[in-house]
Formats: sequence, structure tokens, C-alpha cells
Amino acid sequence: MRPRPTHISADNSRGLLTIRWDDHSECEYPFITLRTACPCAECRLRQKDRHSKSLSGELEIPLHSVQVRKLERLEMIGNYALRLVWQDGHSYGIYTRDDLRELCPQGQTMKEKTLSESSVR
Ligand SMILES: [Zn+2]
Repeated sequence: MRPRPTHISADNSRGLLTIRWDDHSECEYPFITLRTACPCAECRLRQKDRHSKSLSGELEIPLHSVQVRKLERLEMIGNYALRLVWQDGHSYGIYTRDDLRELCPQGQTMKEKTLSESSVR
């Protein structure tokens, strides 16, 4: 049984997205982590580009703009994915529950499980 989010909240002043899961764990994602890991095609391409060109360009995505780091709103898509709409209008990133578990800074214990699941796919 994979955990589901039971409560999601975003705090623009702290730049944190908090997700509570039905296995009683809680994850706090800095917005910058989410934006950098944006799973949309456009950002994926940029991430790939960055890896092939330089390893030092960790923050090459223009995060200097405040809007890039603030959320406009959250949308649940069904009960398995979350769409983040950023204040700069970027809204293509749909994060699945698996993505979110993988990104969870507090979710180290989940790592092994998530990895074996994704290798099956
Ligand atoms: Zn994106």
C-alpha cells in the first residue's frame, strides 16, 4: 500500500510545501527543491542539458526571480498527482505521489522502497 497525501499546504512566506501522508509521515519541501525538480518536459530538457554541459550549474534555472519561487495555487489531479502553479505562470509540472515521496527531504527511509518500485516500471 502506497501512502496517500491527507493534507497539503503551501506557505509562500517560508517557501515551504508541507504534505502529510496517511502513513503519518510528514514532508516539508522547500519550493526551490520542487521547482528544480519540475517534471514537465520543458524543465526535464533543461535539467538534461545542464547535466551534459556542466556539473556546477546546479541552479542554472533562473531562480533569481521571486515569482519563480512562489506558488500561485495547488491543484490535485485525481488523488494521485499534484499540479503546482507558480506565480511566473509555469504550471506544467505534475508531480505524482511517487515523485513527491522521492523528493521528500524527510523521506530517507522510503528511498529503498521507492527505488525498487521505479526500477520495476
Ligand atoms: Zn517545468
